[in-house]
Parts: sequence; C-alpha cells; structure tokens
Amino acid sequence: MKKITVLPGDGIGPEVTEWGKNVLQAVANKFGHDFQFEEALLGHSAIEATGNPLPDETLEKCKNSDAILLGAVGHPMYDNNPNATVRPEQGLLKIRKELGLYTNIRPIKLFDELLSASSIKEEILKGADILFFRELTGGIYFGQPRERQNNGTTGVDTMVYHKYEVERIARKAFESAMTRNKKVHSVDKANVLESSRLWRETVQALSKEYPKVEVVHMFIDNAAMQLIKDPKQFDVVLTGNMFGDILTDAASQVAGSLGMLASASVGDKVGIYEPIHGSAPDIAGQGIANPLATILSTALLLDIAFGMKEEANTVIQAVDKVLKAGYRTGDIADVLTAKKMILGTAEMGKKVIEFL
Ligand code: NAD
Repeated sequence: MKKITVLPGDGIGPEVTEWGKNVLQAVANKFGHDFQFEEALLGHSAIEATGNPLPDETLEKCKNSDAILLGAVGHPMYDNNPNATVRPEQGLLKIRKELGLYTNIRPIKLFDELLSASSIKEEILKGADILFFRELTGGIYFGQPRERQNNGTTGVDTMVYHKYEVERIARKAFESAMTRNKKVHSVDKANVLESSRLWRETVQALSKEYPKVEVVHMFIDNAAMQLIKDPKQFDVVLTGNMFGDILTDAASQVAGSLGMLASASVGDKVGIYEPIHGSAPDIAGQGIANPLATILSTALLLDIAFGMKEEANTVIQAVDKVLKAGYRTGDIADVLTAKKMILGTAEMGKKVIEFL
C-alpha cells in the first residue's frame, strides 16, 4: 500500500489535482496497486480555514506519506498586497524546507503534436529534450537578512549558497546525465556574484568524479537567450533557485504551454510532485484548466517515488495518444483545432484515463 497526500491548494489547483488523483487511481486499478489518498490544506485555502498557510496537520500528513501530489497555491488578494504578512507561498516555501526538498526536477519535452502551440519555430524546437535540476531550498529565496531597512525605503534580500547545497544537487544532475547524453550545463552568474563563483567552483570540483560528463558553464543571461535560440543544445541543466525559477518558465515555451509542464521536488525523504504552473486565478472555477501538467506530474511520482517505470510510461503514452487523437485544452489549441476537439479539465482527464 502506498499513501499519497493530495494538496489541492488554490485556484485551479483543486480542479487539476482531482484528475491527477483519478489517473493514479486508474493506474492502480490497471496494475493491481493499492494507493490510499488523503487530502490536506495548503496556501490560501489553509489560511482561510486555519490562519496558517501550512497547518501542522498538513505537515504531519505529508511526513507520513510515500508521495505528495500538489496543485498550486496563490490568490490575487495577496499578489496585489505586498504588505500582507501571512501569504500562501509561505506555506509552499516552508513545506519544501521542512521536507528538505532541495532538488526540483523539471523535464521539458515537447510532444510532437504540440509543435505548433509554441511561439518558437518548429524546426528549432523539434527534438528538444531538457531535464532541469533547480536548487530549491537555498539561494536568494531563503537567504538572510531579508527585510526592509531605512524606514521601509530599502528592500534587502540575500543570495547565499553553501558548498554542501551545491554539491548535493550537482551530484543528482551528474548522476542523471550519466543515464542520458552525458552533458551538463551549469548556469550561474559567476562574472558578478560571489555565490555563483562558489557554485561554479563546486561544480568544477565535483565534475572530476564524472570524467565522462561534459560540463558547460553558462551565464544565466546567455542561457536565457540560448534556450530560445537553440534549445536542442541542452540536455541536463543545473542551476540555482531563482535562475531556475525564471529559466524553466521561459522553457515552458519550448514545451508549448505552462499547462504541460510537470515537476518533482525531491530530497532524501518524501517528495512533492506538482505542475509548474500557478493557481491561474484568471481561469479558476471555469473548468477549462489543462490538467495534463498535473497528470504528467503523476508519471514522475510513479517513476521517482515508487520506482514504477512501466506505470509512469503508460501515463505519458496515454497523454501522447490523447494529443495524437487531436484533443486539446484551450491553452494548447491552435487556430486549426476544431471546436469540438477543445476539451475542458474533466473531459481531458477522462480522455487520458480512456487511453491508459
Ligand atoms: P500562473 O501559472 O498561475 O498563470 C500564468 C498564465 O498561464 C495564466 O494566464 C493562466 O491562465 C495560464 N495557465 C496556468 N496554468 C494553466 C493550466 N493548467 N491550464 C491553462 N492555462 C494555464 O502564474 P501567475 O498568473 O503568475 O500566478 C498566479 C498565482 O499563482 C499567483 O498567486 C502566484 O503567486 C501563484 N503561483 C504559484 C505557483 C505554485 O504554487 N507552485 C507557481 C507560480 C505561481
């Protein structure tokens, strides 16, 4: 038996996690597994119910599970109020820290059927297959001090990296590169930032343990440009928290849409599997959100958390078949997609289960 905690979160989170959960249940039925699901609150919905974006009960449930499926957190009432002291994303940052999830893994792979949904030219995109390793519990999102000074007129954040933080994620990236094309792009800003110079130095030292892996050091500004210009040059990309945050959203254009991108946040214990998109308040409650990023996150969950590779591939293939059959959600439809092939969240979820 495997225990899966589902954290639907806010906005479209509950709409898409429902279908992630349904797909996992369908996989369990097909392969004869026993998955037990339990829901818990996180983000705005948790603040509304308890005043706390990460209630103790949620953390306990997560710690006692084998894997966590998360939707997204966030609500416009905080986005437009920078002074709010209790905020949904605090719950997300805290749970990553509490569970020691220092590695965010984001595969960027374009389904051939979606080539035309991207704003990048097809011949530049076709064949791109990138695996991002973004550091998740360090860097500028966590460094101290982080405060207002001079009567609130100065804002301070601190970018800190320790050698051990760089080493442990770099090791994961190198190990993964050994199973792929043996190439790692390490992205930093070592020409300007001291924390980046430490990053580069640490990656260079570790690379000696992986002589078969080619390491390319690239500055973040250049990497952002190269990703759009020639995404096929990348295989494994290793980078820090903020650079990875920005670069992977840019890379979502390589995959056609934010609604297609899955991620896994892992450390040494239980991991969180989640789409990279946010709570999309602009479309929340309309039943039109693309559930495929969440469904593809369940494939990562099956593979990484449970070692169920065949089950994971079955999910990815089901998504592929649905797309090949011409079905789309609004965000990945193009002008040629017939109206009747444009599905809502539930219809798309059902189609994937049908094709499993
Ligand atoms: P977003 O990802 O929520 O939305 C960006 C755009 O993409 C919107 O137009 C949205 O409609 C569209 N989109 C996103 N997911 C989609 C899907 N599954 N199907 C179809 N369209 C989709 O980013 P944002 O607008 O910058 O942020 C909204 C809220 O989400 C904010 O409160 C932000 O803090 C939060 N957020 C949370 C996470 C997370 O929980 N991991 C990540 C990013 C943003």
